[in-house]
Amino acid sequence: MDYQSKIATNVASIPRSGIRDFFELVQGRDDVISLGVGEPDFVTPWHIREAAIYSLEKGQTTYTSNLGLLSLRKSIAKYVGDFFHVEYNPATEVLVTVGVSEAIDIALRALLNPGDEVIYHEPCYVSYSPSIVMAHGVPVPVLTTKEDGFSMKPEKLAAAITPKTRVVFINFPTNPTGACASREDLEGIAKLAIEHDLIVLTDEIYSELRYDETDPHVSIAALPGMKERTILLHGFSKAFAMTGFRLGYACAPQPIIEAMMKIHQYSMLCAPIMSQNAAIEALENGQAAMIEMRNSYHQRRDFLVKRLNEIGLDCHLPGGAFYVFPDIRCTGLTSKEFAMQLLEQESVACVPGSAFGASGEGFLRCCYATAFDDIRTATDRIERFVGRL
Ligand code: PLP
Repeated sequence: MDYQSKIATNVASIPRSGIRDFFELVQGRDDVISLGVGEPDFVTPWHIREAAIYSLEKGQTTYTSNLGLLSLRKSIAKYVGDFFHVEYNPATEVLVTVGVSEAIDIALRALLNPGDEVIYHEPCYVSYSPSIVMAHGVPVPVLTTKEDGFSMKPEKLAAAITPKTRVVFINFPTNPTGACASREDLEGIAKLAIEHDLIVLTDEIYSELRYDETDPHVSIAALPGMKERTILLHGFSKAFAMTGFRLGYACAPQPIIEAMMKIHQYSMLCAPIMSQNAAIEALENGQAAMIEMRNSYHQRRDFLVKRLNEIGLDCHLPGGAFYVFPDIRCTGLTSKEFAMQLLEQESVACVPGSAFGASGEGFLRCCYATAFDDIRTATDRIERFVGRL
């Protein structure tokens, strides 16, 4: 059978994730130090795991409300109010999802008609463009550069807006660059969204992982006039080291949550109850462990940026997340060649910048959510590799 002709054209058109392809090469190789997959090296704090175990012990093995446990939605609304300074009604404006991944998918499906354009900044997380295509939208990347700190500049956004633009999709701190947007840039983006009547999707998954205490995180949802046109997406995977729990949430005005909930209800039904119980514990008592993990990432970031610059790979100091994005153009290799040769010759795995969009070419993503000693050894090996070029 010609299976290709049976696959929906929008699905057939999307590429496989460049990260996964690359990491299939690493599978089963014990000698490799991975600065690759963007996943905390910490095990979920014990008290959070215990809450999941206790949930099972109590026999809580059922579906929950489609929106998620009301007790969790109340905890989320309180946390979001305290951290982002935006108030949401837990009964109607919060939806618990299976990771931020599901929240991205159902937000786009709830908003887009075929042919609607979504503007996002690139390099970006690998799922954005495919998720837009799967929702029958048209991805419109705005290319960011090292020179503008990989932030989305309002003038570039303005130039990308057309009558078909429906959504602006942002993610600060950014995967893969660690970039943070200044308040001024966010205000410029907000002004354009209001002027052109656009919905803003903000993926806040790294917002706790910011390292400059004098420059605290601001969500675009908190800017004047923005709550009513913003969908705030957040989750537990990164800051609370809970990737395997598969839990996230969306906060938005009630009609948008209602539309997203319809898709969620028919596709996922609800997020797993034990993960929801663990998430309540994370929000209510997880701050200390989260800060400890953040402090550890902070030290590793400083070390890695210093070493890469010493090696001669120009690396900006990223304000957040747990990635650095050094410029490897001076080596004359493409990002894929650099990553493949580094893996073959020195057994260090990093992700080619091109996996995050064409504008990532010439860069490498190194994740520092990896043991300090491994980072030290990896940088020594990178130094040896670059020295040979
Ligand atoms: N958004 C960004 C920017 C990410 O980097 C990731 C995971 O790497 C996700 C969303 C997916 O998160 P989750 O585990 O909550 O589905």
